[in-house]
Amino acid sequence: MKLDIVTIFPRMLEAPLAEGIVGRAIGRGLLDVRVRDLRDHAADRHRTVDDVPFGGGPGMVMKPEPLFAAVDAIRRERGEPDAIVLTSPDGRLFTHREAERLSRLSHIVVLCGRYEGVDGRVREHLATEELSIGDYVVSGGELPALVILDALARFVPGVVGDEQSVARDSFVRGLLDFPQYTRPAEFRGLAVPPVLLSGHHGAIARWRRRAALARTLDERPDLLDRDALDPEDRELLREVLDLREKGAL
Ligand code: SAH
Repeated sequence: MKLDIVTIFPRMLEAPLAEGIVGRAIGRGLLDVRVRDLRDHAADRHRTVDDVPFGGGPGMVMKPEPLFAAVDAIRRERGEPDAIVLTSPDGRLFTHREAERLSRLSHIVVLCGRYEGVDGRVREHLATEELSIGDYVVSGGELPALVILDALARFVPGVVGDEQSVARDSFVRGLLDFPQYTRPAEFRGLAVPPVLLSGHHGAIARWRRRAALARTLDERPDLLDRDALDPEDRELLREVLDLREKGAL
């Protein structure tokens, strides 16, 4: 999979792209990531990428020409991309589903905004979609680009060593993940749930399922799609609600 990230701060992306699962995927050639310095595509000798907003107001706006020129250069070098993503707080919300969809494309360009954002013509005539990583504003598109890249990379076959682990992650089944514990079994008087030490796989699976349902109910009831639950889950959910009513969970 080819990814091109266009930014005025290439160094902000270097360290995160060198570490962990993403770093390894790049090293193994599963992801071909190129970070492009937007200033290389500015037309003047000051390498200007921003200007004052038409109509007045505070701050600066990113000029359209360098962004269009950067994408033209990517096209010449790597062919027509499948998607040109503009990072933007007013874009569509980037979710697990969006990550999975993007992971099936073979070439994605991500544009990182700065200042007050980018000239409207970029969104209208260059970007093929706009994505927001959440309902808050960060100061540039670099962190959002990294979030998008990391989340979609997890769905690219071979990137995460154990495919099982992606299939079980939060959101995949409309449920949050269950809590995990590791050794020691007791620490500062704090014990792990005894069922996890029982060696009884059926009981452990049931406990985890129930814990995932309870956590989703508490933290993200909006995710819980009762109709999509299988009969066993529905029974577990009734159990959770029952125990809650009695104050026992
Ligand atoms: N004035 C703009 C915010 C600009 S923030 C507004 O109110 O909408 C500068 C840049 O940071 C944006 O162009 C975008 O690339 C990036 N950015 C900020 N918050 C973001 C978010 N939640 N998701 C994706 N990109 C974001």
